[in-house]
Amino acid sequence: MAAALALAAAGARVTLVERERRLGGKADEWRDAGFRFDTGPSVLTLSEVVRTTFERVGLTCPLAFRPAAPLCRYVYPDGRVWDVYRELEPTLAGLEPQEADAYRRALAKARTLYEAAAPVFVHGPAPGLLRLAAYGLRHGLAAAPGRSLPDLLRALGADGPLLLPFFMRFATYVGADPRRAPAVLHNVAWAELGLGVHHLEGGTYALVRALADALEALGADLRLGEAVERLVTRAGTVREVHTTRGVLACDAVVAAVDRELVSGWLGRRRRERTASLSGLVLLAGLRARDQRLARHTIVFPEDYGAEFDAIAGGEHPLDPTLYLHVSALDDVGDAPPGGENRFVMANAPALPIEPEASLQGEARAERGRAALLASLERRGFGWSEEALVTSRWLDPTTFAAYGHRGRLYGHAPHGLLGALRPGPRLRLAANLALAGGSVHPGGGIPLALLSGTQAAALLARRLGLRRSWPAPPPAAPTRG
Ligand SMILES: Cc1cc2nc3c(=O)[nH]c(=O)nc-3n(C[C@H](O)[C@H](O)[C@H](O)COP(=O)(O)OP(=O)(O)OC[C@H]3O[C@@H](n4cnc5c(N)ncnc54)[C@H](O)[C@@H]3O)c2cc1C
Repeated sequence: MAAALALAAAGARVTLVERERRLGGKADEWRDAGFRFDTGPSVLTLSEVVRTTFERVGLTCPLAFRPAAPLCRYVYPDGRVWDVYRELEPTLAGLEPQEADAYRRALAKARTLYEAAAPVFVHGPAPGLLRLAAYGLRHGLAAAPGRSLPDLLRALGADGPLLLPFFMRFATYVGADPRRAPAVLHNVAWAELGLGVHHLEGGTYALVRALADALEALGADLRLGEAVERLVTRAGTVREVHTTRGVLACDAVVAAVDRELVSGWLGRRRRERTASLSGLVLLAGLRARDQRLARHTIVFPEDYGAEFDAIAGGEHPLDPTLYLHVSALDDVGDAPPGGENRFVMANAPALPIEPEASLQGEARAERGRAALLASLERRGFGWSEEALVTSRWLDPTTFAAYGHRGRLYGHAPHGLLGALRPGPRLRLAANLALAGGSVHPGGGIPLALLSGTQAAALLARRLGLRRSWPAPPPAAPTRG
């Protein structure tokens, strides 16, 4: 949608083809029985990227942002509760002196890593060899190239039972088993802890609505409930997009689905690499509020490593880290009075490479659902049958509609090279640009938006579209 917006604003005639009857993809919304849920993203980091997605094409961002405070509440197996803020003072108040020192050190390191990496790996176009070499020369050693994330945290003294799972978890934001993540992914912690988290008034889905409104205003043709089936290339360019409703001739294409799905559209072999994490989500509309929950709450398990052993073995963990999100704490309309719209998420394995008998897959999903409910119960965050008004599950099979094998972030960012995201190009398709969470700069709302505007910039140049965006429309006259 970000790519479509930038291209439409540059004067292209844009057709957006979406297989579902709703826009948003993973960032969808579900409403039932007076409850509203964002079905995917709830933690918005780098929120200025949302604003600039509109502003850089001359539009005013229509969204209202609220900072999250605390950023998140952490609940540990021994009952310890720690609220983490963007500000240091209240964050450190929950720590022992030794932990506070380690937190400061680890935060400073995350900042150094982020500030070195962001211009190349977040905000800039996919780096070629020259830019990678320049980054390597300037910052390579500081990025601890041979080390894993846990090694780095140990060296920083952030390896106690409180700080180790806390800092490791940020690598799951990009779909990694944190034990196999390279040290440089510690930079992700700064995006949240240093730069902060925001909520959008009206929920994450308000962004999807705002993008859709802007696209309609620019005259883009939004075709919902129509799936792309293949792309036909001639002389190294995509000439036709074949969909479930017919054939679209095109000058250029942005493909904003998982990269391996695009390979399939071109009739090419998919490249199997270790998949990033998938997820298991329970949306529960509850009659009453649990006062112990902050808007974002993480409940850590007894054994953080065992969670990823299970996932590496293709199974749902028996005792997963639980992420709980209740948007109704701020957006009161998201639940009936006194009620709670609880989003519960656990990490989950992507689906196996080999198609398996559906009974086997269903049995695994059932084990995952049972384990998640048992973990909620065991950790004291369960509910009685009478308290539950409505619920819905999303699992790796659900997410397989969006990403190859249900993976949420393309291939797993394991090891230094694995953390590099593929660029926006595919061979022999010069007018095709890839966008979305499986390519540079990566997954998550802000990065996926950036990938869209970067894909649009690549094609705008090729299509000879105007590069300067229209002036913002004059402000509406104020009444009275
Ligand atoms: C449960 C969950 C929690 C998350 N939490 C966060 C979070 O807190 N913060 C954050 O920043 N990010 C989070 N993310 C990640 C975030 O949602 C994504 O990175 C972001 O929405 C971008 O998605 P994407 O690029 O992977 O594309 P998708 O959302 O997968 O979009 C691809 C679109 O293509 C459509 N499509 C697929 N096949 C076809 C076809 N053949 N023809 C036409 N259309 C097709 C799909 O229907 C979909 O609309 C979360 C994701 C999930 C699932």
